[in-house]
Amino acid sequence: MPELPEVETVRRVLTQKVVNLTITDIKVKYDNIITGDVNEFKNNLIGKKITGLSRLGKFLIFNLDNGNIVSHLRMEGKYFYSNDDLDNKHVHVIFYFDNGYCLYYQDVRKFGRMEYKSNDDLYTTSPLKNVGIDPILNKKIDYRLIYDKIVSRNVAIKVTLLDQSIIAGLGNIYVDEVLFLAKVNPHRESDNVSYDEVKAIVDSTINILSKAIECKGTTIRSYTSELGVEGNFQNFLNVHTKKICPICNNKLTKDKVNGRSTYYCTMCER
Ligand SMILES: [Zn+2]
Repeated sequence: MPELPEVETVRRVLTQKVVNLTITDIKVKYDNIITGDVNEFKNNLIGKKITGLSRLGKFLIFNLDNGNIVSHLRMEGKYFYSNDDLDNKHVHVIFYFDNGYCLYYQDVRKFGRMEYKSNDDLYTTSPLKNVGIDPILNKKIDYRLIYDKIVSRNVAIKVTLLDQSIIAGLGNIYVDEVLFLAKVNPHRESDNVSYDEVKAIVDSTINILSKAIECKGTTIRSYTSELGVEGNFQNFLNVHTKKICPICNNKLTKDKVNGRSTYYCTMCER
């Protein structure tokens, strides 16, 4: 599943390819990928130029000369840019450009979503208004605010971190890595995590996500090459999918938190 570093990688690659191109037509083959009315979506976009790509948490945002497309890849959404015909049964949306190239949105699981947002609505309406602090974009982190929000929850800390409304961008893989670096057991109740531990969690999040972006993301299981980019952060994973703790050599524990596979060290993470 693409997490923040993978989405950021897609953003950087797409920026080099589609900025300054004008959308001349759009084919929607599976309506549910589009949130809202499909014809309105097309009418709002055809004739507009892509001026840039931005990101908030795991949301990718195509900025247009007027308006935006907000895209969430969810489990397996992928974009391909080509002037060859790449249409297949897993391609659900095709954007046609004025240079003869197309942007294909492929999604085997069909969980991804995209929608049109006017400039005024972009950050003031759902989904982006509910997205928490993006630790990569936000250079001035308010630890106290994050601490207050985390300890107001009475679920496992891993569940709280996966919920995008406090810290945005962490998914299953990176949460395990962040909690390992911060030395916090993923099952700990959020309301009993200390201020210093929250600080360690936030600092580890910045550290891990920055490193993963440098590595162009993690290539693991369902998430494979996106736009021809192979991430290599899997070579730097400490606990996720691993068996032995790299710090104390203890056998790592693998179990589930809220149904998600979770890897941690019971010696190092308290
Ligand atoms: Zn350990």
